[in-house]
Amino acid sequence: MRVYYDRDADVNLIKGKKVLIVGYGSQGHAHAMNLRDSGVKDVRIALKAGSATIKKAEGAGFTVMTPAEGAKWADIVMMLTPDELQSDIYNADLAGNMKQGAALAFAHGLNVHFNLLTPRADLPGVGRNLQEHPGISVSAMLRPEARLKGTTRRHIHLGLRYSSGVGDDPNDMFLMAAAKSAWHPLGERIATFIAWINKPASRGSVVLERQGTRLKPVANFQFLAEASDRARLKGAVRLMARLVATDPLARHLIAPAPSSYGGWAKKLGLKTFRNYALTATASLMLDAIPALRESFAREFVGGGRLIDELVADDAALEAHLVAKSFGQWHPCGTCKMGAASDRDAVISPADARVHGIGGLRVVDASLMPSVPRANLNIPTIMVAEKMADAIKRSR
Ligand SMILES: Cc1cc2nc3c(=O)[nH]c(=O)nc-3n(C[C@H](O)[C@H](O)[C@H](O)COP(=O)(O)OP(=O)(O)OC[C@H]3O[C@@H](n4cnc5c(N)ncnc54)[C@H](O)[C@@H]3O)c2cc1C
Repeated sequence: MRVYYDRDADVNLIKGKKVLIVGYGSQGHAHAMNLRDSGVKDVRIALKAGSATIKKAEGAGFTVMTPAEGAKWADIVMMLTPDELQSDIYNADLAGNMKQGAALAFAHGLNVHFNLLTPRADLPGVGRNLQEHPGISVSAMLRPEARLKGTTRRHIHLGLRYSSGVGDDPNDMFLMAAAKSAWHPLGERIATFIAWINKPASRGSVVLERQGTRLKPVANFQFLAEASDRARLKGAVRLMARLVATDPLARHLIAPAPSSYGGWAKKLGLKTFRNYALTATASLMLDAIPALRESFAREFVGGGRLIDELVADDAALEAHLVAKSFGQWHPCGTCKMGAASDRDAVISPADARVHGIGGLRVVDASLMPSVPRANLNIPTIMVAEKMADAIKRSR
């Protein structure tokens, strides 16, 4: 067994660090005072609120914090409470509050050895690198002769991959045309182009937020945070505006307008009898009184504007995109695959194991380092097949 002595340790490594001593009993107070006497500038004590020992620690000139406050502050947390309390203190106060990269140290390793306490792995990439395909749409009323007549089940007949010319990524855009926009009678009267960014530059994150006593995951997509993404999607809206104004398509459309997936369109997407009745009634009126179609498209679809009016105003177009762009149900990337030397990587490319944690693998869309230029279902199946083979081989 190798034994370490004072001469093996370099106290200079922690002199400038914020050190939190959890507990101020026989060990805690000795550690705190020793460190302070050895030149560690900022040593503080963590004690539970109301503890009788607070006075003693403050009397010795230490700042006292609760374990949760201290965990948020410290670079190094030294656990010096009785062993039987450590697991509860770690889980309740330290685990969710310790800074990324902070160190946790113990005078006894019993809780760790017997798996009563599992320190969080230092994996800053977890939750970062969230990617999606942000998109926007343009919709128009379909003249009766152009509506689907039940002759085909599919309503999406065209997909176009193209390069925006913004940045160096080829095929960074996708555009599709749908000859029916929803399941209900109104949807059958509306055609929609949807364009999305296949290779967005913007990145979001998933974070844990405390809501009452529970931690909930919250996704911040940060769509179009990067100017290059706003430029790409603006170009896409301009392209869609040109397409709907070009014959023969233009002949079959009435009043193309900027649209999005939200508001009433989302509410009516729910398959209920009420929504059917509402949309059937609106459709009857629009069929019977053609003059209503343009104002319907402008007010209900376009939020007061037709597409030509929007593309003529660059600032309004940008504001529209920032407010209304929407995801395509393709979130991925928050447990990025990559070498252990990559600080942002979480998953090993060889076998999907989580770096630094035994017995845990992640195999789903979250390990994609970058969102594919395609819908995610098949790429996710490919990832799963490849990793299943790797796991089988490793046994
Ligand atoms: C509405 C919609 C439409 C889509 N359309 C298409 C399309 O047309 N083409 C295409 O290619 N892709 C499409 N996608 C995307 C595709 O479905 C996803 O990218 C893909 O399913 C991602 O696979 P995954 O395994 O990462 O996650 P998921 O398929 O979401 O699987 C996650 C699994 O984890 C389970 N789970 C969640 N929480 C827990 C828990 N606490 N404990 C245990 N299990 C849990 C869930 O029940 C689920 O089974 C669509 C997605 C949506 C939502």
